[in-house]
Amino acid sequence: MSSVKHIPCGPCSFDDVTKDAGKWCTNCEEGLCEDCENSHRKSKSSRNHKVILIEDFRKIENVSISQVCEHHGENLEWFCKSHDEVLCVVCVPSKHKACSDVIPISAISANARQSTALSELEETIEGTLQNVRRCMKNRESATKEIEKQEQAVKSMVLETRTKINSQLDKLQEKLLHELRSTSHTCKSKYIKIVQKLKSTEEMLTKLREQTIHMKQFSSDIQVFLGTRQVNKRIVHEVEFTKSEIGASKDYELKVSIHNLIEKLSNEVEDFGKIMVWESAINLDFRHPKFDQAQIEINVPTTRNISNIKLQLI
Ligand SMILES: [Zn+2]
Ligand SMILES: [Zn+2]
Ligand SMILES: [Zn+2]
Ligand SMILES: [Zn+2]
Repeated sequence: MSSVKHIPCGPCSFDDVTKDAGKWCTNCEEGLCEDCENSHRKSKSSRNHKVILIEDFRKIENVSISQVCEHHGENLEWFCKSHDEVLCVVCVPSKHKACSDVIPISAISANARQSTALSELEETIEGTLQNVRRCMKNRESATKEIEKQEQAVKSMVLETRTKINSQLDKLQEKLLHELRSTSHTCKSKYIKIVQKLKSTEEMLTKLREQTIHMKQFSSDIQVFLGTRQVNKRIVHEVEFTKSEIGASKDYELKVSIHNLIEKLSNEVEDFGKIMVWESAINLDFRHPKFDQAQIEINVPTTRNISNIKLQLI
């Protein structure tokens, strides 16, 4: 595959020969071709080196583990127990001259693979990963919860709106009904007067005609008596109509809108307010190990009886 980077054999490159490495020496930190690996395996200085497949090397190629001192650039080969520090050959005489327990890293790293620290590191990574996933899940479901709440608020707004609409419809219908009936009452009173006046008009028209005829054709005595009688009726009718008109009223229809409804259309500026209640998060991101015991990252330790006794006290 062209995407896979070829790793050259180190010893061959030294002779300006380009050959792909099939193995990798983790001590020499270079690739080895088949021939060079053979001589590397036989050579006294390198027969104990840890040689791995080039495929396995690719897996750890990007794991950044610094093996050199960040201050001096020399290989980290010493460990000071008092300071809990890894040291290079320059560090030792400069700052740890007085330290009595500076030992070679090779002496304490032999069991590093089986160390409690490494297994605890693995547990810590696993535990932290679970923590991260738990928190992620929690926040994701919190996001869904917000969406649910948004929907609930929205339907509450719409429901309220529908309620107001139907209430307004009802109130409007009631008011218009009242308007119709009030208008009807007023008109009825007017019409009643008009009808009375109409009958008065008819009566007067008749009396006018009778009076003309009386004037033309009746005897003097009849005219005398008729004039008095008709006059009496007219006077009576005038009195009656006068009191009727006097007792009647003028009406004017107006409306007074309920002040809350006025306010709704003029003063109410918000349908409501969206509120956010904040509360302390019910979720903790805890360190899987630090709560129980401090892990020792630097010093590989093996459990022994005295350690266990110490923990039990
Ligand atoms: Zn080679
Ligand atoms: Zn080697
Ligand atoms: Zn150093
Ligand atoms: Zn020291």
